[in-house]
Amino acid sequence: MPPSPRVRFAPSPTGHLHIGGARTAIYNWAFARHQGGTFVLRIEDTDPERSTRENTDAIIRAMEWLGLDFDEGPGVGGPYGPYFQTQRTQTYVEALDRLKRAGAAYPCFCTPEVLEAKRTTARERGGFAGYDRTCRTLDPDEAHQRIARGEPHVWRLKVPLDRGDIVFNDAVRGEVVFQSSQVDDLVLVRTDSTPTYNFAVTIDDATMRISHVIRGDDHLSNTPKQILIYEALGEPIPTFAHLSMIWGPDGKRLSKRHGATSVEAYREQGYLPEALVNYLALLGWSLDGETTIFSREVLKEHFSLERVSRNPAIFDVEKLDWINGTYLREMSPSDFAQHMMPWLQDAGLTTIDDYATRPDWYHTLAPRVAERVKRLCDAPALVEFLFRDTIELEPSSVSKALLSGDARSALRAAQAALTSLEVWRSQEIETCLRGLAERLAVKPKIVFQAVRVAVTGSVVSLPLFESLELLGQDRTAERIRAALEALDSDRNPADAASEPYAR
Ligand code: GLU
Repeated sequence: MPPSPRVRFAPSPTGHLHIGGARTAIYNWAFARHQGGTFVLRIEDTDPERSTRENTDAIIRAMEWLGLDFDEGPGVGGPYGPYFQTQRTQTYVEALDRLKRAGAAYPCFCTPEVLEAKRTTARERGGFAGYDRTCRTLDPDEAHQRIARGEPHVWRLKVPLDRGDIVFNDAVRGEVVFQSSQVDDLVLVRTDSTPTYNFAVTIDDATMRISHVIRGDDHLSNTPKQILIYEALGEPIPTFAHLSMIWGPDGKRLSKRHGATSVEAYREQGYLPEALVNYLALLGWSLDGETTIFSREVLKEHFSLERVSRNPAIFDVEKLDWINGTYLREMSPSDFAQHMMPWLQDAGLTTIDDYATRPDWYHTLAPRVAERVKRLCDAPALVEFLFRDTIELEPSSVSKALLSGDARSALRAAQAALTSLEVWRSQEIETCLRGLAERLAVKPKIVFQAVRVAVTGSVVSLPLFESLELLGQDRTAERIRAALEALDSDRNPADAASEPYAR
């Protein structure tokens, strides 16, 4: 039996968790959980200017929210810590010592200006574009003395000159070949003694015993460099799996231009974590090519790198909305009500005490809302009319539904009929209003829309009869009365396009 896999998600905390990063984290997590392996979170905070503790906390919060629990990492600990790169300096020093002892690293004193001049010449000649290895052949004693004198230098990898092409078998992309002409004596440690990205990542992956490196293919060109470092250290090379980028609908790499890109922004708009995980998992992986809705459990049970696509995935917010809406509708009324409450509270519509006083009312409301929203942030606008003392009549809705003579007399008749209704339930309300339309010999829709606009302010609302039931008989009557009064007054609400008509 091969040892159980160890994978890692290694974000740089230079911003919040990006949608692309979240997908990488989901695949690593699902891979580890499927195989009974270990999922490590490592924070690559080596960029001192852009890495912040706040971003690290936000990334961890987003992962927790998505349900991506990690087995080793910040706050959890583990046998291969610390899990912040800034705390691993000693590990990098020791690794460089190992390479020095093995004769696999050398100091390079070429200044940035010299290097730039070399690059220009190489470009002009059209030959090998990398470092020309001047310092590789320096006399070791001379190099030693220059270091002792404090001359600035970097440490480079001494790549075997006969190394040839670098070939590896990517678990997603198949065989990948990098030609030897691209193999450079790369910098491992900078003049200020800090490790380069490629050095730190390789040392961390090697010392943390990472077996599979699953990451975005923006790192593909780093992989040959990292393979050379593994070889110089004599460490086993992990399996690499490079995930294709996520594109916006215009075929360009997903960015802020395409809308929200951080997990947090989706959370704030009222997407459910289950829905987001489901959707992001589908950006490059499929369960069977058909199934769209699946739980985290199913993902864990079935995830494999074999089913990860090599093609770029297109981020389609409409599909995400559809998936989110599906999850919202599947919730029980009380679950949905509890999820909706923070949104209603933030909008200043209600309080948790009100929920505690009349939970049944909220549980009746919940499925009506769930059927109509794709995101929880859409809920307040839909239910606002139930909570406000006064509502605004939308001028365009007034024009559509209340201005004809038929509509106005229908509304007046509806007020009388509804006021004398004995049982205030959606079914009885419907029977009452349909009967009324028949008596008046008008289309039922004329009655319904007139009442709808008078009571909710808009032609678009929750289902009418249920809305009236939830609003209550007295408040319904009061709103119809106020609407009629407004229509009869000199001031026509339909004219108030620039100033919504409030009452
Ligand atoms: N820290 C790198 C990033 O955020 C990831 C490094 C890796 O996965 O190898 O892009």
